[in-house]
Amino acid sequence: MAAIIRLANEFLFPVTARGGGVGYTGGAVPVDGGIVVGTDRMKTIIELNVDDLYITCQPGLTTYDVQQAAAELGLLFAPDPASYKDSYIGGNIAENAGGMRTPKYGVTKHHVLGLEVVTGAGEIIRTGGRTVKNVVGFDLTGLMCGSEGMLGIITEATLKLLPMPEATSTVRANFTSMEAACKVLTKFTPHGLLPMAMEAIDKFCIAAVEENFAFGLSRDAEAILLVAVDGSREEVEKNARLIEQIISENGGFDVIRARSKEEEDKLWDVRRAISPSLMKYGTLKINEDVVVPRSRVPELVAGVERIGKENDTFVANFGHAGDGNIHVNFVVDRDDAEAVARARKCVSETFKLSVELGGTISGEHGIGYVKAPYLGYALDDATLAVMKGIKRTFDPNGILNPGKMFV
Ligand SMILES: Cc1cc2nc3c(=O)[nH]c(=O)nc-3n(C[C@H](O)[C@H](O)[C@H](O)COP(=O)(O)OP(=O)(O)OC[C@H]3O[C@@H](n4cnc5c(N)ncnc54)[C@H](O)[C@@H]3O)c2cc1C
Repeated sequence: MAAIIRLANEFLFPVTARGGGVGYTGGAVPVDGGIVVGTDRMKTIIELNVDDLYITCQPGLTTYDVQQAAAELGLLFAPDPASYKDSYIGGNIAENAGGMRTPKYGVTKHHVLGLEVVTGAGEIIRTGGRTVKNVVGFDLTGLMCGSEGMLGIITEATLKLLPMPEATSTVRANFTSMEAACKVLTKFTPHGLLPMAMEAIDKFCIAAVEENFAFGLSRDAEAILLVAVDGSREEVEKNARLIEQIISENGGFDVIRARSKEEEDKLWDVRRAISPSLMKYGTLKINEDVVVPRSRVPELVAGVERIGKENDTFVANFGHAGDGNIHVNFVVDRDDAEAVARARKCVSETFKLSVELGGTISGEHGIGYVKAPYLGYALDDATLAVMKGIKRTFDPNGILNPGKMFV
């Protein structure tokens, strides 16, 4: 990898790293040409250490590969993007991917202990290490998380593992609106509860997955909330019952709880099936992943529905409501230029609304080239200047992934 980057510096051609290629902001697309470095064959697990709770591996393993390798030894790799069977660890780190379990476990950066990286100058550097605590020098590991292949190429990662919780339980409830479903998100903490996952799904997503997969969801529901907890068996039983009660007291109806692992998997299959199913509504799906503080999610979903109506554009919402990260999908016909222009206007208004509500324009998909024109909505000039300086330090000749983020 270092030899490739050194060659690129000598002949000044761009290099774009590619993982599973399922990023949502075009990060792995070589917009300025050059070469794409695939990591498909970098799939070695170098060490899996049960006593010290870490795995060291190459970047081309999928998230699922790492989860499975850890699970075989009774351990949990917590980050779980819905794309877990396709996305690679290198891509997860470069995008700082989130997932369903974020409310309790955080995002990818909270589970990366150390990295080996080839910088844009062709130097091999090692960041962090194998220990949970490490404050020697600047936190370059944190800096690499979310760096979108623009500072260096990750060639090895040491990831934090946790003991596998004994049990999990998922509760599903219907609501009369997305707003009503999202108002429940803040009702658990006064009871001392931090659910592992809290996902909201609107009626358009329900209709789309029903049509494709016939899960048996009620089409009368305007929204669904999925809430999951994990821990010891007794703890999970007690907390799941409490969650059912809190949801019922706060407008949820048809509340059900999975009684087996199969039933639980089925509830989550619904959630994972949404994104592809939405193509039923049009040939162009603009999937944004805005994020706001959790208490502002009801205002965000109401605002986005209003923006869609005002601009005569179909919008479907779902996502990781428990961490404030909603996937807003404007779906139109890609051949209808006016409809596409209206959808782009909706995107811009949604970004502004998210910032006004104290949030930002991306919770987990990153900027890539797709969101690059909107970076200024979220970052001021002084902050941007620092970021550009960091880019120059790592990649003085602008070899790595040009045409992304700063355009
Ligand atoms: C159906 C679906 C569901 C999704 N659900 C989620 C979700 O729940 N949460 C979430 O966060 N995202 C989600 N995503 C988005 C996507 O899966 C993540 O962004 C994921 O982390 C991308 O991984 P990848 O391996 O496909 O990366 P790629 O798309 O291949 O690349 C993404 C970026 O990482 C860089 N990169 C790749 N490998 C390296 C490396 N070794 N070193 C340095 N840079 C590198 C690339 O240059 C590019 O900029 C979803 C996508 C789909 C299609």
